[in-house]
Amino acid sequence: MKVAFIGLGAMGYPMAGHLAKRYDTLVHNRTAAKAERHAREFGSKAVGLEQTAEAEIILTCVPVSRDVDELAHALLPHLRPGTLWVDHTSGEPELAKQTAALLASKGVSYLDACLSGGVAGVVNARATVMCGGSEADFERAKPVMGSYAAKIVHVGPLGAGHAVKAVNQGLLAVNLWALSEGMAALAKQGINLGLALEVINASSGRSNVSENLFGQRVLSREFPNTFALGLLAKDMGICVKVLEAAGTPAPLLRQLREFFEVAKHEVGSADVDHTAVARLLERWAGVEIR
Ligand code: NDP
Repeated sequence: MKVAFIGLGAMGYPMAGHLAKRYDTLVHNRTAAKAERHAREFGSKAVGLEQTAEAEIILTCVPVSRDVDELAHALLPHLRPGTLWVDHTSGEPELAKQTAALLASKGVSYLDACLSGGVAGVVNARATVMCGGSEADFERAKPVMGSYAAKIVHVGPLGAGHAVKAVNQGLLAVNLWALSEGMAALAKQGINLGLALEVINASSGRSNVSENLFGQRVLSREFPNTFALGLLAKDMGICVKVLEAAGTPAPLLRQLREFFEVAKHEVGSADVDHTAVARLLERWAGVEIR
């Protein structure tokens, strides 16, 4: 089977690498040199955008849904009926439905297939995928996604994958912000943060942020950039749109979206790792979280 992967970023590059071990894999990237490097490293084939339409399954992983929609418009004249488009972008349910309708006009079906687990998750083929779309399309894509994911769940109709991911990102943001505030306070009081984290991780307040991110990225002072602060801020914007579409009360998550917009400006860059939020809170607190 021939597959095509568009968007060889922090996530896409290793994902397409896994695909190339199992399938005839075409790769396309806005900056072509990255696709050529991928071809040399994994034996994929670097192609122009038009040529990705030769694949039976086209996968995308780009920053936002608008980028996916632009790719769909650009590829539309070349697409063949029966093709399946699997979008791994953390995107917007409503925009994804528009893109899906556009693709359907050419007989191409679409799944919103959001990822979780970060770069390490895809590198180790342990990622989680939450999918919106038809059952038949999900079953068709599942073995392909199994190249880099260990848990692959069909969560509902079109847009449901994006919606579930947006809520997940809200929880990530809450945990990251709250733990940063708490650890800054403990640091100020001279408490050993390694011990504090150890005990929190054996207690009811633990989360992925406390169990993995905080020790590895903040206390270590490494802040490796694998998931940009700007992308999490974007996800918070989607989260609030999902909540607004439902019309349910969400005072905490709305507020937190604003916090992340402030953080982007205060930190001075959207391109740093999302854990830079801790750097901001330590600056405000006048203490280092280490
Ligand atoms: P990166 O910024 O590392 O990569 C983005 C990729 O998209 C690059 O290949 C870039 O090309 C390409 N791109 C950017 N803009 C456009 C455009 N307008 N048209 C076509 N291609 C474009 O992002 P990530 O890989 O980190 O994230 C991708 C998606 O996955 C995002 O929606 C993110 O929220 C989500 N995600 C990220 C996770 C992570 O841990 N990083 C975890 C889970 C989901 P170029 O090389 O030319 O810049």
